[in-house]
Amino acid sequence: MTKVFHESDGKLENLIGKTISIIGYGNQGRAQALNMRDSGLNVIIGNKDDEYKKRAKKDGFQTHTITDAVKKSDIIFLLIPDEIIPEVFSKEIEPFTRENQSIVFASGYNIAFDLIKIPTTLNVILLAPRMIGVGVRENYLTGEGFFSFITVHHDVTGESWEILLALSKGIGTLKKGAVEVTCKQEAVLDLFNEQAFGPAFGRVLLSSIYTLIDQGYPPEAVLIEMYLSGEMAYTYEKMARIGLVKQTNFHSHTSQYGAMSRGVKYLNLPLKKTMKSILKNIESGGFAREWMKKSSKLKFKAIKFFAMKTKINSIEQKVRKSLELPAISFDEAYYQLNEEVLKELESVKDELKEFEEYFKDY
Ligand code: NDP
Repeated sequence: MTKVFHESDGKLENLIGKTISIIGYGNQGRAQALNMRDSGLNVIIGNKDDEYKKRAKKDGFQTHTITDAVKKSDIIFLLIPDEIIPEVFSKEIEPFTRENQSIVFASGYNIAFDLIKIPTTLNVILLAPRMIGVGVRENYLTGEGFFSFITVHHDVTGESWEILLALSKGIGTLKKGAVEVTCKQEAVLDLFNEQAFGPAFGRVLLSSIYTLIDQGYPPEAVLIEMYLSGEMAYTYEKMARIGLVKQTNFHSHTSQYGAMSRGVKYLNLPLKKTMKSILKNIESGGFAREWMKKSSKLKFKAIKFFAMKTKINSIEQKVRKSLELPAISFDEAYYQLNEEVLKELESVKDELKEFEEYFKDY
């Protein structure tokens, strides 16, 4: 039976006298820190000395170096990007921990794929919102809450579940519901959504856009129809609130008949087969190992560059101008490949061909 926790399962009293440090005042860090403080918890921030730290100070938090925050706290939230957690943990956190502290992850990634070793003297907790940081804050303020995936991965003190459920209440997720999953399940689900559903959806969206534009339909009308109206966001919202099939009742009978009857045209697409192979690759740790390689970081730069050059960007800019919508500003330098990177890319030239090919059409 899947366990789902609600508001009455969390007791904030279990955190009385405990100091919580938030390491990383970014997307999740800021939102979770503000929510917990508003819930009456004692929160401090550990961050490098830069813009994020300034923001934390401006928000009225006590700020420290990462190491000092670790020393001063009982519960340590690791809210920095997953790919840098292992290094920061081994250099700036682990040597300064003491027995019975709790380490809280917002993603199971590093635990799931064995990329980090946590001393057995520490509690290890997963509290992973299914919501971007801004949403974590907004849904706390409205009182609606948001879903999270949670678990206790390692319990030394025997009180990790009480701590986890109290923290869950503090960040506001129990208002909606927290579902127990393992760290591996959380990480795989997250990656699968990004790697199987995301690109398939992107391909379908762009194929639809180009099919229409190639047939002479006005780009302004096409983009409005396909996504600029924001109607799709409403449909997603209704799916979540009312149900996948029932929400179709908000559309006309013509729309429903057309959409439902044409589904069979896509019957033979090997979607599940492709998705299953993506899932297997994630589950086996293949993706995590690939992403750790230096060559993957290089490929990533090239892929971003190809994506930036795709024609949808220029179509979108023209359409936005014509519709008097604000232009999209890109930090060109972030996407450009400088001489040094271009030289390094020589080593992955062959692997890049398929990406170049893929983005050429799009
Ligand atoms: P961000 O990218 O917003 O994190 C930025 C923070 O990390 C800043 O405080 C930054 O400070 C710090 N940081 C970056 N590099 C370093 C470094 N080398 N050393 C020390 N600190 C560093 O992270 P997110 O909030 O997006 O993600 C945090 C966690 O939350 C991750 O585990 C992620 O998987 C999880 N998560 C994220 C969600 C999201 O929507 N973003 C949703 C659910 C979970 P500085 O620049 O000063 O170093």
